[in-house]
Amino acid sequence: MSNCNVEVCPVCGVKIEGEDKVLFSCGPVGTRARLWARVCQYAKNPDCINQNKEAIGPIREKDFYSEPPSLSPTVKEKQRQAS
Ligand SMILES: [Zn+2]
Repeated sequence: MSNCNVEVCPVCGVKIEGEDKVLFSCGPVGTRARLWARVCQYAKNPDCINQNKEAIGPIREKDFYSEPPSLSPTVKEKQRQAS
C-alpha cells in the first residue's frame, strides 16, 4: 500500500493522495495542477507542499476557476424578442 499515502498541505488545507489526486474540501477530486491553479499559486508560502512544478505538471485552462455562467448573446436576444 505504498501508493495510498495522503499528504495535507498545511497552508491550503487540501489533501493530496498518492501522486496526483487532490481532494478538495468540496467538489470533485482534482489534480495537483488544478490545486495549484486554484489555491497554491495564491498562497505563495514556502510551506505549501504543492510548489514543485515538475510534480504539478502542465496547467490547463480548465484548471482555473471558470467564470460564472452568463447569459449568452443568443439567450439575451430571445429575451429581447419575447418582451
Ligand atoms: Zn498548498
